[in-house]
Amino acid sequence: MNMEDLDIRQLLNRVREGGVVGAGGAGFPTWRKLDCRGRADTLILNGAECEPLLYADYHCQLLYADKILATADRLRSLLGLEQVVLAFKRKRQAVRAAVANVLPEFPKVHIQLLENIYPSGDEHILVYDVTGRIVPQGGIPLQVGVLVQNVQTMVYIHDALRGRPVTHRFVTIGGAVARPYTAEVPIGMRLAELLERAGGVTCRDPHFLAGGVMMGDLVTEDFAVAKTTAGILVLPRDNPAVQERLSSLERDLRIALSVCDQCYACTEMCPRRLIGHEIEPHLLMRRAGTVLHTPGERDHIAHYCCECGICSLIACPVKITPRRLIAAMKAKVPLTFKRELPAYEIHPEFDRKRLPLDYVARRMDVHRYDEDHRFLGQLSDVGPVELALTGFGGRPLRPVVADGDRVIAGERVAHSEDTVLHASIAGRVRLQANDPPTRLRIEP
Ligand code: SF4
Ligand code: SF4
Repeated sequence: MNMEDLDIRQLLNRVREGGVVGAGGAGFPTWRKLDCRGRADTLILNGAECEPLLYADYHCQLLYADKILATADRLRSLLGLEQVVLAFKRKRQAVRAAVANVLPEFPKVHIQLLENIYPSGDEHILVYDVTGRIVPQGGIPLQVGVLVQNVQTMVYIHDALRGRPVTHRFVTIGGAVARPYTAEVPIGMRLAELLERAGGVTCRDPHFLAGGVMMGDLVTEDFAVAKTTAGILVLPRDNPAVQERLSSLERDLRIALSVCDQCYACTEMCPRRLIGHEIEPHLLMRRAGTVLHTPGERDHIAHYCCECGICSLIACPVKITPRRLIAAMKAKVPLTFKRELPAYEIHPEFDRKRLPLDYVARRMDVHRYDEDHRFLGQLSDVGPVELALTGFGGRPLRPVVADGDRVIAGERVAHSEDTVLHASIAGRVRLQANDPPTRLRIEP
């Protein structure tokens, strides 16, 4: 069937069958997000990539500007949207040139250049920068008529509509490695093999941050690429970002309760606070012990935090980590959406208080690594891949293949109600014996 003839139901079905999930966030199933006809007027394509050292979305836009814009324009007409805006950093002049080549074909698609600020890719901040609308605290962009999609997700959608499921993604390997690079790699590619292709690590006692220095998570050497992995950074143990992650929650709590002098710096620099949300990390630190043990109704404000890390890694002069404690609080306090929306007021010094990315990189001591690096294209001859049998929110995926089966790349190997997982390389399936299995290995 011609792509132009697909109706919205058929499109959502192909996106689901193609295993498309948000490439830039927590992996929310994209077909659910696209099921929004009549509730949005604007689609923002998020190409901001605001973490230091990451180049995955950059190379994706350079290579696939045509796929991104064509898919966005198709969604615009199917979902009845008024406008599409591709947002990326002003400093990405090569992306601007690549997009300029195809933009005339899509008169309803516009570009917006973003300043080199952290966190310009946060959905709430991006929606404000592009449309001037403020997403309600604890809410989603659709509540103000905006659909946000990462640029790489658009490539996933483009391919899924043509029967090609998600098997690869753009990933940056950076930090303390001999030859940093970005490549399109099979889902499930193992960290050890990724590092080998970077010429190995160059620091003592290396630690691995998947997702970025500000918002990423520490992972171990058995890590394998997921559909949401934008990059893996190698950093020494004494790096401040690594130190923050290594601290225990008990220790964080003790320090917060004994050392926090309510200086207010964390709240003053919080980007969600700057757009008028009621998040106040300094107050949550004062009540940290209570919130974690006997939370009250008001403590649901923890859910207004996007875990950008500015309070912990940049603002706090005594190295308290509100971000980690607030993340723990979220698990204790239910999110109660406010039905009536407060009149949000942008901080009068919003522009002055935003953080230049170069400053963030220096504070995180990663500016030294930000050198020109290579794009390797799509990697082939990859060794065994390890596919996680979990979907959004940790929901299990049920395998539809058995141990010892042979599969080809793109073949369906597991699914859930929400999504489908496909083999990223051809080979023999190895399933864990535990029930249910949490990983599926494919040996070429
Ligand atoms: S991590 Fe800190 S600075 Fe970032 S949104 Fe949460 S409270 Fe605000
Ligand atoms: S910046 Fe640190 S010391 Fe100051 S109020 Fe926030 S947590 Fe407390």
